[in-house]
Amino acid sequence: MSKFFSAKYAALTPYVPGEQPKDAQYIKLNTNESPFAPPASVVEAAKTEAGKLHLYSDPESAALTEKAAEVWGVKRSQVLMTNGSDEALNFAFMAFCDEKHPIVFPDITYGFYPVFAELNGIPYEKIPLKKDFSVDYQDYVGIGKNIVIANPNAPTGLALPLWQIEEIVKSNPNNVVIIDEAYVDFGGESCVPLIEKYDNLLVTQTFSKSRSLAGGRLGLAIGCEKLIADLNTLKYSTNPYNVNRMTAAAGFAALCEREWFEKNCAAIQEVRAYTAESLANLGFTVLDSKTNFLFAKSDKIGGKALYEKLKAKGVLVRQFNAPRIADFVRITIGTRAQMDVFLAKTAEILEEEK
Ligand code: PMP
Repeated sequence: MSKFFSAKYAALTPYVPGEQPKDAQYIKLNTNESPFAPPASVVEAAKTEAGKLHLYSDPESAALTEKAAEVWGVKRSQVLMTNGSDEALNFAFMAFCDEKHPIVFPDITYGFYPVFAELNGIPYEKIPLKKDFSVDYQDYVGIGKNIVIANPNAPTGLALPLWQIEEIVKSNPNNVVIIDEAYVDFGGESCVPLIEKYDNLLVTQTFSKSRSLAGGRLGLAIGCEKLIADLNTLKYSTNPYNVNRMTAAAGFAALCEREWFEKNCAAIQEVRAYTAESLANLGFTVLDSKTNFLFAKSDKIGGKALYEKLKAKGVLVRQFNAPRIADFVRITIGTRAQMDVFLAKTAEILEEEK
């Protein structure tokens, strides 16, 4: 740390992204990316815009926002496009939370929430998940604080039904409820339709998983007009050109590829079911995932040891050294062929442990 670093950030522990190794060719099942490259139309759209990189992008991302509003069935003024959904989440923390407006979230969830809180000087409270790792929605009913819940949750993969989300939103009318739907396209129920009914609901989604654009950095926030206007105030106070030209064009093209999107989401869910069943046959406990990853543990080997041994065999998964979940690994769903390698290596490791 330099002697110039502001005291307000001195205690900040930054978010640690999943490994992006350069030393070897791994089967990468550690960062919940899509195993499918974007379709040709998306690549072409980005290429065309590459030739215009001397010009700033449209600060309103007008064409993309219009298209997104159509796809999600809302008004253009109810949508903000962002540089990944991480940016939408950070804007929401900045906009709606402060010393007097703390935020609560589950104790086991997306690791960026406490970082956004600390970055912005926001007090936060973690509410323990139930024993079965599910969120008890009643813990949040009428809590009178801002709330962020990933639904489905990460890294557990478990989802809450829509009616429970509605109970949380309805019972906290004086607080903002942020529902992070990064993984909703793999079997969850989106609460976007509720934004018409509740002015305190903000939903975030991403193009990083189901739309194969993790490297493009594109996300969005959906909420009532006033919430979106507040987020825009922050966007125009930090980075008006937050979505670059190539990404805006790629995102637009991706939204036009409806069949491609649906086919890939279905493929992931099919391979997920196959992998979950195969892991169960190997004796693993596997949580009921509604995402593009599985959260699983074996009683024959610890999470860290399994992670390390898989890495040595060329397969990367993610493991969290945190209370209650250290024995689990989080496995991104790849192609069927990738999962077969993962399963074969896992079986080998269990054999070696005997
Ligand atoms: N929310 C959750 C729960 C996530 O796992 C991720 C991916 N790391 C994000 C949000 C952010 O994704 P992105 O910024 O790529 O949209």
